[in-house]
Amino acid sequence: MKIDSLCVQAGYEPKNGEPRVVPIAQSTTFVYDTAEMMGKLFDLEADGFFYTRLGNPTLDAVEKKIAALEGGVGALLTSSGQAASLISITNIAKTGDHVIASAAIYGGTFNLFNKTLRDLGIDFDFVSPEITEEDLDKAFKPNTKAVFVETLTNPSLDVIDIELFAKVAHAHHVPLIVDNTFATPVNCRPFEWGADIVVHSTSKYMDGHAVSLGGVVVDSGNFDWTQGDFPMLTTPDETYHGIVYTEQFGKAAYIVKSRTHLMRDFGSQASPQNAFLLNLGLDTLALRVERHCSNAQKVAEFMESHDKVEWVNYPGLESSKYHKLAQKYMPNGTCGVISVGIKGGKDGAVRFMEALKLAKIVIHVADARTCVLHPASTTHRQLSDQQLIDAGIAPNMVRFSVGIENPDDIIEDIAQALENV
Ligand SMILES: *Cc1c(COP(=O)(O)O)cnc(C)c1O
Repeated sequence: MKIDSLCVQAGYEPKNGEPRVVPIAQSTTFVYDTAEMMGKLFDLEADGFFYTRLGNPTLDAVEKKIAALEGGVGALLTSSGQAASLISITNIAKTGDHVIASAAIYGGTFNLFNKTLRDLGIDFDFVSPEITEEDLDKAFKPNTKAVFVETLTNPSLDVIDIELFAKVAHAHHVPLIVDNTFATPVNCRPFEWGADIVVHSTSKYMDGHAVSLGGVVVDSGNFDWTQGDFPMLTTPDETYHGIVYTEQFGKAAYIVKSRTHLMRDFGSQASPQNAFLLNLGLDTLALRVERHCSNAQKVAEFMESHDKVEWVNYPGLESSKYHKLAQKYMPNGTCGVISVGIKGGKDGAVRFMEALKLAKIVIHVADARTCVLHPASTTHRQLSDQQLIDAGIAPNMVRFSVGIENPDDIIEDIAQALENV
């Protein structure tokens, strides 16, 4: 099936007399007739639900849908995008290990890596999203376990050359992890370009209605862990009587371990209710993304022609330095988010935002309602001036998240607000 059909159909096939729509299995626990059956589940010898922290029928259906959308072998839903990024790294890296990450990543991911995981003993190097093959090659160390990038960065909208990062990572037998939140699998499927693991904040376009936080880790199944140095996957896990993930679960080793090991221990699972809501959002993901992109293109073109606007950054514009890369990786459109520099510096940006009526000031981004944010004073305020520059964030930058309203209404609102600058 094509991607828009998968959005509606994948993950759940009801049998005779079962609910047509994925039901909410609002139960922490599941019954079995014998202790032996339960024991087999605990030893990972049998497949089945027993406790919602480790799996649940509602979560399972949504995980299968997202795995199908990305073209992976399996997925793990998490309580938030942050939990997905945390698990994606700690599933293969521990104290003494090293990870290379793009400097242009979501502010929350940057803090998680640069502060919290660093404090736990995992070393990070942040590299330019536009790094050359040679320089990226030099960033590797003998203890490097992963490379982490964002397809389309929030909020600077840099387009990452996934093939370049995958090629260099693979030459070092290291996987490429891609945060695909902004592009969504409707516009870009990173596995087709060599990425090995994909993470999402499903709180954004996937949910699309701004009603539930969530995240997901998806495994392509393509990375051969036995070729690199990944003892967590290739040597016995004593907490499961010495099973070796790569031997027992083959291509699904990474995603099975993320559940049986890390979800067991961290407990950052999604709730059945939130998974249900996420699934409703996924049903219409392809339709919404198409509208977000066509609206954003119109808004970007209008802003670019306006004399109160200093610059517009949208990969759909020919003026964007990422236009060519965007056409390669996201030929059908990028996302609904635009970043603009308003004339008059930081004050101009704030005055513009406060004069908007239809577009509301919220921290959130990438949902059905048009909204705006000033990253330098909110999501990225923990960053130093140099870190802001590295992440591509100017003081007068406004992140404008174009919704799915009628584009004429959005543009009219922007026009009246710019009068106030
Ligand atoms: C929002 C966001 C996250 C964090 O997700 P939460 O669901 O808020 O925890 C991670 N990456 C990107 C690109 C995001 O936009």
